[in-house]
Amino acid sequence: MQRAAEKAPHGRRPELTLLDGLRAVPPGVARRYQVIPLRYEGDRLVVGAIDPDNLAALDALHRLGHARIELEPLSQERYREVMQRWYGPVGDIAEFAARLPPRLDPGEPSLGFDDRSDESPAARFLALTLTAALSENATDVHFEPDRISPRVRFRVDGVLVDRVAPPPWLADRVIGRIKSMAGLALGECLFAQDGQLSFPTPAGSVSIRVSIVPSDRGECAVLRLLTVENEVPTLEQLGMPAAVRLQVVEAAAGQEGLIVFAGPTGSGKTTSLHALLETVDADRRNIVSIEEPVEIHSRRVRQVPVRRETGLDFASALRFVLRQDPDVILVGETRDTETAELVLQASLAGHLVLTTVHASNALGVFDRFAQLGADRRLLAQVTRLAVSQRLIRLICPHCAGKACFACDGTGLKGRTGVFELVTLGNELAELVRQGARPGELRAAARAAGMRTLQEAAAELERKGATTAAEIERVLDLQGRSGSPGGD
Ligand SMILES: [Zn+2]
Repeated sequence: MQRAAEKAPHGRRPELTLLDGLRAVPPGVARRYQVIPLRYEGDRLVVGAIDPDNLAALDALHRLGHARIELEPLSQERYREVMQRWYGPVGDIAEFAARLPPRLDPGEPSLGFDDRSDESPAARFLALTLTAALSENATDVHFEPDRISPRVRFRVDGVLVDRVAPPPWLADRVIGRIKSMAGLALGECLFAQDGQLSFPTPAGSVSIRVSIVPSDRGECAVLRLLTVENEVPTLEQLGMPAAVRLQVVEAAAGQEGLIVFAGPTGSGKTTSLHALLETVDADRRNIVSIEEPVEIHSRRVRQVPVRRETGLDFASALRFVLRQDPDVILVGETRDTETAELVLQASLAGHLVLTTVHASNALGVFDRFAQLGADRRLLAQVTRLAVSQRLIRLICPHCAGKACFACDGTGLKGRTGVFELVTLGNELAELVRQGARPGELRAAARAAGMRTLQEAAAELERKGATTAAEIERVLDLQGRSGSPGGD
């Protein structure tokens, strides 16, 4: 909470982040008067209120030290949604953290907390944090230790945002709680450890992958929330334009061949492939997927999770799956020579294969397969199409880009896909077979009408759906395979 204050010095505070909002209007006040801080307009704090004529609310806000306040009407639904999804859950941690002592004196009885107990402060802090992360649809939670100001950050819409941090004395205990829940060695603080924990929620248990790495300031923990979606979105919902949709659906209706989606981790390519599989006739065709991990459940697809610890990697799983009389096979990722070879062989042998690779653009797919030792002639023969995609944040529907607490003062909330598609016609196939240079491939693809990621993104901006800065941020990540955040 203090960090938010430092970032927003008096005099100039155009943005209201979620943490600033909690500071400006504590959750208790928000609940009592049914008000929510929305944004700053100059030196005025704009607060949404179900009853904008409520003088008691105005008075309570003035007493919090806000000189200039404007109450703006807010619907019941919006108030409820905001309280449930952002303000309430993060408010719960803020209220809990505010009740904790800032430091513990030696000999303080609370030093004797049993961190294994579900009632210990560490356990409560972790549970509240995970609940908030899930309700915000965060993909990762970072616990960053520090003796003076530890930090907790969520990755939301692909970007890290600050959330409520524990006081320094509690930070190590939270890491300890994570380790004990994940079954990791508690005393081991010098080596990296990986594990998994299961977090119970009213909607069922959520599986969480845990990574602990020692740093100069203590152990850092990064938790990947493996939330499993039970509904596969449609290609349209993913933002795929009609022209691209027609071509991918037609390719997926084919009997054999290879469809490849490219992009960095977290660009949504696996979700797109699942959406595409929904268009395939599952009654007449046997659809099998191999995934690591399974993040979207589909009743039409038999889904095989990769289990490295038992030696079941993509290549060996694909060998087993090929004995199951499949028609359509989704291979979650092709990242080694053996899998690349098997994928090409299977696409040649009467199967339709869908997979993803790390490549910065659609044409980069061919280079990526070649790097993995694939035979270019075979590649040119089986590839139907290659698609590259990115997820671009949209202008926040709550504030129309003005920057409010719901979008953490960024003006952006939610994401949509942008796509670049290459179909392999005769000319391009010939160039791939010859191992033509990227420039040549590109010129031929452009001549055949390929629309680039940049062009697709620029159209979003023209329509007023996103900003130039956001496009620059996302497309600058090109080629880099970092930026985690779930596919
Ligand atoms: Zn907003």
